[in-house]
Amino acid sequence: MRILVVEDDPLLGDALQAGLKQAGQATDWVRDGVAALHALDAEPYAAVVLDLGLPRLSGMDVLRRLRSQANPIPVLILTARDTVEDRIQGLDTGADDYLIKPFDMGELNARLRALVRRASGAPTPVLHAAGIELDPATYRVSFRGQPVELSAREFAVLHALMLNAGRTLSRAQIEEQLYAWGEEIESNVVEVHIHHLRRKLSPDLIRTVRGVGYLLPRDVPA
Ligand code: CA
Repeated sequence: MRILVVEDDPLLGDALQAGLKQAGQATDWVRDGVAALHALDAEPYAAVVLDLGLPRLSGMDVLRRLRSQANPIPVLILTARDTVEDRIQGLDTGADDYLIKPFDMGELNARLRALVRRASGAPTPVLHAAGIELDPATYRVSFRGQPVELSAREFAVLHALMLNAGRTLSRAQIEEQLYAWGEEIESNVVEVHIHHLRRKLSPDLIRTVRGVGYLLPRDVPA
């Protein structure tokens, strides 16, 4: 998953980016509200972690702008203690969840997983599609009941396909989930990961949609 962090405090922003990366999320960090809107226009993020007190454009204004454009992206706001009014206003403006500073990185990661899962329409934390079971919290994957060992990036590719099971994802859409800004993208990286996934799972499970991308069906014949 690719996450956008919007936070003007350098220490907190740095800690957020490090903590999210450690949990395997490709994470971009911007420090003001205007940069946040530009980033959200340009990249397909799975969720946004949004501070409210920001230079140039407040977090509340960013949120208002997103929702007025009918952008459904999950938003988790960060608020100070003793600002219950901010939390109420944030939720009423279209935030999906909030955390009060200081917060625990494990809790932030768990809340983001829950937001992304709900946005994808998946009813349970563990994803199921095409005989595969994938647990975003423990990074465990199994196929037809057998555990499968995946690298962090193979896991990220499979996670993206499973969140979109039954829909075709382009190579670029998958790539965008794997890399944050400034990270060098290796050529053919998606093809290589798909090749490994097919070898580890089953050769014809992930379908190539010629000229478009890749598709994982919701169900496969037994
Ligand atoms: Ca701030």
